[in-house]
Amino acid sequence: MGFHLFKSDRCLKIDGHKEETINKPLVTFEPDFVYIRAVDRGLNPLVGLPSVGDKVKRGTLLGKYERDSFPVYSPVSGEIVAHENVFLADGHSYDCLKIKNDKEGTWETQTKFKSAEEATKDEILAHIKDSGIIGFGGAGFPTYRKYQLKADADCLIINAVECEPYLTSDYLLGISNMEKVFKIIPYLLKLSGAKKVYFAVKKDRPLLIEEAEATAASHPDIPFEVQALPDRYPMGYERNIVREIVHKEYDMLPIEAGAIVNNLSTYIGLGEYFSEGKVPVIKSITVSGEVNDPKTVLTPYGVLSDDLISFCGGAKNEKYKVICGGPMCGNAMDSSFALLLQGNGLVVMDNIQTLGDPCWHCGECCSQCPMDLQPVQIQMALVSNDIERMIALDADKCVGCGLCSYVCPSRIDVTQNVLKAKALVIKAKKERK
Ligand code: SF4
Ligand code: SF4
Repeated sequence: MGFHLFKSDRCLKIDGHKEETINKPLVTFEPDFVYIRAVDRGLNPLVGLPSVGDKVKRGTLLGKYERDSFPVYSPVSGEIVAHENVFLADGHSYDCLKIKNDKEGTWETQTKFKSAEEATKDEILAHIKDSGIIGFGGAGFPTYRKYQLKADADCLIINAVECEPYLTSDYLLGISNMEKVFKIIPYLLKLSGAKKVYFAVKKDRPLLIEEAEATAASHPDIPFEVQALPDRYPMGYERNIVREIVHKEYDMLPIEAGAIVNNLSTYIGLGEYFSEGKVPVIKSITVSGEVNDPKTVLTPYGVLSDDLISFCGGAKNEKYKVICGGPMCGNAMDSSFALLLQGNGLVVMDNIQTLGDPCWHCGECCSQCPMDLQPVQIQMALVSNDIERMIALDADKCVGCGLCSYVCPSRIDVTQNVLKAKALVIKAKKERK
């Protein structure tokens, strides 16, 4: 099978709704409790879990994944008070550690790391893994895996596009933390062998562009270039960024085109860890939509969505749904849930109409899909549980951009249906290997 090319010409100008939070300062919120998953992706208990009654600091190791020793850290200082089954932002409930926050914010920092000149590539890679950092753009892919390379990369790309409507978490964090980005770049250049760093940002973000260029000017040794991209959705998607900047396509991963793409907040988290020894457990989360006081909040991960919404003045209406991650790519949730480490936004909506009217077979979802898929056909194959058809229609190539739902005149949640089909296809392909 050939590449499924991402069709940049199908990117749309959509209403960003960012004005609700973009000019407000970042504020800090310390919840009374946080809930941290006590099991790994295979549902095995974390190795080395502390006990109920144990005291922890912000940055204390809570345990490691059994399979790959990936670490999980406490985002607050306080005491572990219980194990509870709690809904997390992925829509499932898990055994979680309930940690009472003493609100002292006492850090357990990690030992200071070597300079980029002194550290070997293996040491840098191990240190990234030790940070426990995952992709903060929402995907949650462990960052160290992007740097397990067979050959050198050509370039690094910092993804500061943040094209998801309502979200300003990266933007506000970036404006006030650009120096941390430049603290981690020398390590990543050495580790990847890349010769150039691109800062991908929407061209209508002059303050962020200014901040990046001003900070770059004080690091003349770093080969850094700002790339201002059009205000289109989904411009922040990796395939789109790679095509715009390095003019190449790829099949599975950007490294096939010589690029490694990480989110701006991932860079900031790594910069803080490498320079100050603080693991990335405090998140920048935009809380917007139908709330009384929308804002972007610095808060420990594991916070409950209801606590964050209350901190932002509460929902405007009695009945509402919360979209975790933003209206295009996020999941709509009915009840309160704890935020995962990759969380970056909560959008409160009081009018989510899905699967309302029947499909008119207008074909609009097909003509706008940037992956050139046929969402309506995939949806029909899902309804008839026809796995062969779902495979033939390449449902697993969906990038979850949400455009098919956005353009659907019947307000059908086509994206969620395609994503369900995608999961079935991935599972079926694995079983047939
Ligand atoms: S979410 Fe819809 S429009 Fe986006 S890639 Fe998937 S099928 Fe295509
Ligand atoms: S856009 Fe909506 S109504 Fe039109 S074909 Fe796709 S699913 Fe059906």
